[in-house]
Amino acid sequence: MKKSKFNSIIENRLGGYKQIISRVDENRPNQLSKKVKVAVIGGGIAGLVSSAYLVERGFEVNLFEKENYLGGKIGSWKVEFSNGYITNVEHGFHGFFKQYYNLRNYLHKIDAHKYLIPLEDYLIITKDHKHYRFKDISTVPILNIFDMIKRGFFPLSPFFKSSASFKMLDMVKYDQVKTFDKWDNVNFLQFASKAKLPKELQLIFESFSRAFFAEPQLISVAELMKSFHFYFLSNDLGLIYDVLNDDFEKTFINPFLNFTKEKKFSYRTGINISSIDKVNGKFVVNGGLYDYLVLSSDIKGTKNIIQNSPYFKRNYPLFFDKVMKQKQSQKYSVLRIWTNKRHKGKYPFFIFTEALKMLDSITIYHEMEEDSRRWAEQNNGGIYELHSYAVPDENLSVSKVSENLLTEFYHFFPEMKDAQIIYEHLQLRDDFTAFHTGLNSNRLTFKTEVENLYFSGDWIKLESPAMLMEAAATSALFSVNEIFKKEGLKQEKIYSVPLKGILA
Ligand SMILES: Cc1cc2nc3c(=O)[nH]c(=O)nc-3n(C[C@H](O)[C@H](O)[C@H](O)COP(=O)(O)OP(=O)(O)OC[C@H]3O[C@@H](n4cnc5c(N)ncnc54)[C@H](O)[C@@H]3O)c2cc1C
Repeated sequence: MKKSKFNSIIENRLGGYKQIISRVDENRPNQLSKKVKVAVIGGGIAGLVSSAYLVERGFEVNLFEKENYLGGKIGSWKVEFSNGYITNVEHGFHGFFKQYYNLRNYLHKIDAHKYLIPLEDYLIITKDHKHYRFKDISTVPILNIFDMIKRGFFPLSPFFKSSASFKMLDMVKYDQVKTFDKWDNVNFLQFASKAKLPKELQLIFESFSRAFFAEPQLISVAELMKSFHFYFLSNDLGLIYDVLNDDFEKTFINPFLNFTKEKKFSYRTGINISSIDKVNGKFVVNGGLYDYLVLSSDIKGTKNIIQNSPYFKRNYPLFFDKVMKQKQSQKYSVLRIWTNKRHKGKYPFFIFTEALKMLDSITIYHEMEEDSRRWAEQNNGGIYELHSYAVPDENLSVSKVSENLLTEFYHFFPEMKDAQIIYEHLQLRDDFTAFHTGLNSNRLTFKTEVENLYFSGDWIKLESPAMLMEAAATSALFSVNEIFKKEGLKQEKIYSVPLKGILA
């Protein structure tokens, strides 16, 4: 579709909505011509993307994963309920935004892109049942903000009443160095008070904050500015995203296994790597010797591995200390329920909810996934997934978390109060990265002081403003590119939204 004149002006000002940020020397060879072995620890997106790109170029890759399934937070595994019913469950619903350039390239590579289907709306429901719908909001940066005002998302008047509101301008001035210098020690609630944000706008940002696994009193405003820039102010792709139309094993893991089948790739699940060593320039992982190591474990796993590996403390004390300073966020929870009844009303199959205490989203699985749809039809029921991305740090028991999530679910769908819950599956986990205040200066990058050791994962500090799944995929590309460079190979193209905001 032809872009409007205003959109073209904004795009030009930003230097293009999609930019290549890696240097690719087309004269270098693609394929490796000698034997080079790489160990990848962690089979989440970062580990899978690293492995796929490495084996494609002829590297021999051995991947080790602690769980009994691949995929990490986008993995899928079987559970059996007491009456013998067996089904797959996941960490939870995942949205694949259109700005996920590198992740989407990977999905194309492994032929999984065909499973993406669009969500029809991005909806936030407030405690008092007000609906914020983003479907019809202009996707053009700047125009989208005015469109939100026009559609009553938040009023314009507070911006005229107080010059404090001009602090909001920093949202359109995103610049990694300056933004983090200025705002990384300020949490969102402090910022909202300083900038005198209208309560409606505060609500939208709080929902964003929780989607990054942090309560608003904990999240760094710099991280929020980065994410707002990435998703909303640096491109015209909008907030409407796609989802995989069936269980992740079918739509994400099996395509990866097909892609790597005839290549020099092997993987082992159920292997919790507790420590690693380096001898004569080679990494020792699970008894094998490797030229390179891509550590793609989550923040919790990475800290454990480095802490239990005397090699690092002995030879790289500063690096060791920095790794120990990385922080996990508060717990998150995912409750899936199978009910004997369905809600009323028409909603997109994923809804953000304003947390009364902890419920951040509801996924209507039977309207999204093939298997779930079949179960719901056969049982005349429904399958719902309730997420809390930031469970309050109150030492709540598992049953209390489940009770809270259900109470809040009934607040939004009161007609479900008398539904019988046939099965339920609850997860309460603590392995997500903290995007809290004050962490940026110690955040690790993909390159480490240890020769031939690279990190990848959604917790890595990147030069591009990517978040979550896209950050995991992008960090993997940075790591493999460094290996390609060392081996004299052509690097991969890494894409990004504009690195800086429109007024930066
Ligand atoms: C409920 C929920 C909803 C989400 N929704 C979205 C969304 O809508 N959109 C979005 O973009 N992102 C979303 N995310 C975030 C997204 O899932 C992550 O950003 C992404 O999957 C992280 O990938 P990763 O490879 O960096 O880490 P992980 O997926 O955490 O992978 C790390 C892997 O390392 C393994 N590991 C750890 N220690 C060891 C060890 N010692 N030995 C061997 N293996 C080890 C782990 O088992 C894991 O498999 C969501 C996350 C959750 C939990």
